[in-house]
Amino acid sequence: MKSEAKRKNKKSDPMDIIIKLLIVACAVVGVVLLGMLAVEFFSGGEDEIDGQAENTTVSTSGQDITEYIPGESVTTELNIIETENTEEETTVPPTSVPETTEATIEENPSVPQTNELLFIEAEDRITVEIDPDSEYWSLVVVNISRQMPSDYVPKLANVADTGYQMDVRVAPYYTQMYNAALKDGIRLTPVSGYRSYERQKNNYANRIEICMDEYNLTREEARKKAATIVLPAGTSEHNLGLAMDICSLKTSFCNTKEYAWLVEHAHEYGFINRYAEDKQHITGIVYEPWHWRFVGVEYAEDIKNSGLSLEEWLDSKGIAY
Ligand SMILES: [Zn+2]
Repeated sequence: MKSEAKRKNKKSDPMDIIIKLLIVACAVVGVVLLGMLAVEFFSGGEDEIDGQAENTTVSTSGQDITEYIPGESVTTELNIIETENTEEETTVPPTSVPETTEATIEENPSVPQTNELLFIEAEDRITVEIDPDSEYWSLVVVNISRQMPSDYVPKLANVADTGYQMDVRVAPYYTQMYNAALKDGIRLTPVSGYRSYERQKNNYANRIEICMDEYNLTREEARKKAATIVLPAGTSEHNLGLAMDICSLKTSFCNTKEYAWLVEHAHEYGFINRYAEDKQHITGIVYEPWHWRFVGVEYAEDIKNSGLSLEEWLDSKGIAY
């Protein structure tokens, strides 16, 4: 009996092991299946998340910020709720503005040289009063003889979904013009908009150095020469937020389809080409086909048709400036 029992025991041992192994295997498979089901259930379907933009930053009321990386299953109920608001949260920030420091003038021998005698020292300039409520706010004139107060900073807004800025009252007109041109297949890329007083100061200082090198001038001579290309701080329309340099800083811009479009349409949006080739003796500035100044829709066409510089046109109308 003993030996039979032993035999039975010996026989049943492997069976027990197999059964136990089967139970363990089933349990493992079960756990895995349950796990997969749970993931599927809580994820609410991958498509919903795949539909999100790649690498979007998801945030809930400005608190937790979770970066969603496609392919990773960061799938919790919370994340699904969060992703509903991503469109607003993931607005592309304004592009950083690698603003061109200033004009790279192509010296054109056919363009008459600006009369350097127009240079006026800072202490001899008129300081213009900036009155935001004036009916002529868009006609304010700054030039080498007229400067804005050094502490004047306009209220600013971005133009055409870029980081470039203009006076908040002007920016919408630029954006409208930009969009209208786009419909005609023309891209009026902003190159330089609002510039702070300090930035203008640096640009002018840099231009003096360039002029000294390029034309072999003394610093005194270079100060005057530089001012025909980059105006001293406070005398530039860029400091007022009323001007935009468009597409290029080269005189050859006048041969482009973008320039032709501007000549035909810019006045409809209140802009004029400010530094004309034949008005350098009045503006004191070299020909700048890229520099477009906002004067207002109500005046731009008349100024354009008059063929006068802004200064001359204001004189002709008896508008004090
Ligand atoms: Zn300009």
